Amino acid sequence: MPAIQKEDFIQSIADGFQFISYYHPLDYVQAVARAYEKEENPAAKDAIAQILTNSRMCAEGHRPICQDTGMAVVFLEIGQDVRWDTDTTIEEMVNEGVRRAYTQFDDNLLRASILVDPAGSRKNSGDNAPAIIHYEMVAGDKVDVTVAAKGGGSENKAKLAMLNPSDDIVEWVLKTVPTLGAGWCPPGVLGVGVGGTPEKAMYLAKKSLMAPVDIQDLIERGPNSTAEELRLELFEKVNALGIGAQGLGGLTTVVDVKVLDAPTHAASKPVGLAPNCAANRHVHFTLDGTGPAELTPPPLSAWPDIGWKPSSEAKSVDLSTLTKEEVASWKLGDRILLNGKILTGRDAAHKRIQTLYESGEGLPEGVDFTDRVIYYVGPVDPVGDEAVGPAGPTTATRMDKFTEMMLEKTGLVAMIGKAERGPVALEAIKKHQAAYLMATGGAAYLISKAIRSSRVVAFDELGMEAIYEFEVENMPVTVAVDSSGESVHKIAPAIWRKKIGKLPEPA
Ligand code: SF4
Repeated sequence: MPAIQKEDFIQSIADGFQFISYYHPLDYVQAVARAYEKEENPAAKDAIAQILTNSRMCAEGHRPICQDTGMAVVFLEIGQDVRWDTDTTIEEMVNEGVRRAYTQFDDNLLRASILVDPAGSRKNSGDNAPAIIHYEMVAGDKVDVTVAAKGGGSENKAKLAMLNPSDDIVEWVLKTVPTLGAGWCPPGVLGVGVGGTPEKAMYLAKKSLMAPVDIQDLIERGPNSTAEELRLELFEKVNALGIGAQGLGGLTTVVDVKVLDAPTHAASKPVGLAPNCAANRHVHFTLDGTGPAELTPPPLSAWPDIGWKPSSEAKSVDLSTLTKEEVASWKLGDRILLNGKILTGRDAAHKRIQTLYESGEGLPEGVDFTDRVIYYVGPVDPVGDEAVGPAGPTTATRMDKFTEMMLEKTGLVAMIGKAERGPVALEAIKKHQAAYLMATGGAAYLISKAIRSSRVVAFDELGMEAIYEFEVENMPVTVAVDSSGESVHKIAPAIWRKKIGKLPEPA
């Protein structure tokens, strides 16, 4: 076999990451379309419709499915007889491919999310490198490559348990999944790794997510192994938890469960759990020395024609006249279309604001949150005539510890994010008669179309974490926590678990 050329390898990695930034795997699209047809909860059905519409728009427009364009993860199976035409290491070539993918495609710039010195300065590497690379040596003279882009929201929900040999895996998964909340943007896929050592179980859980969604085939043909029996049982029971799309309650939380296992020690039963979110992004290709990978674009006709539009029941809110009293009148589950100006901010901006208050300085010049709404977002940079690149919500739970300060000191009246709020945020929202609004995680390109203009108002040096002012038109959100502190994420999954009726009430 001819040697693999350095340039072919680098370009294939770059093309792979570009490809998955805007093409969902079709097996995932089809599974989500099935979930859409089946869904009985209108709120969850609406969220799934947004995810599918966003998916099709991204495939059409070649722009990222999610504003979090992910950490680059590369699985390599390298044939022992493979020859390379270069002395450059595989690690260097992969990282060069990642740099190229994230920074050198001018019509589809991707967001650089990787920070170096994670326990210290947390400085952005600027090009999304380095990647996480998993190597396996196999027989043969080819290189099998799988590239995946994993968002922080779903990665943050990964879990590992060192169970006792007599412990029940299903019981542990069913106890654990509700604790993940909705920050992993369901509907997605759960990867489960069983056996080996702790790090092996986590690796297997992650690797299992790279296989196609095929649970319906398994249901039809029946299981042939313990791992397949476990997949079927977990698929049914995790969905019976009633968590639903975006944690809004409903019939589909996962469109598949994957299980990989490995031999383990007699004293051990390691179990790794890795969720894959609505931005399910991976592609596989093989290099044999005859040139770069050729990735075939899926036909647009493969996407269901859902064409999501805002609900006719949604009420329009004029942000220029918003008052605390109006916010306090919003009810849980209300669908709202926001019109006017909102401010943005996420982890780093909140931390800066807190430090400024602690030092007695107050907010930076030009920043005024009085009677305003903040959107937790870190957008992708715009290209062409876009006001902003894909700009979906980030996990609100991370801002919980700043919520009391923001509501108490800045005059803020509402927040927009994704996933549930924790007890301290709920308490602060109730105390200040504020509200938390939810946008759909994994619908970033669709949401960005509601943003008409964007300007940085503070902390420019924080890049995507700066405070921006967005002018929005009919931006769709749902009241997820109202001024009484009631939370849709607490109430709805419990209702749907009961309706589905396959699991006992939690103790
Ligand atoms: S879909 Fe949700 S969890 Fe996935 S990358 Fe986007 S924001 Fe993160």
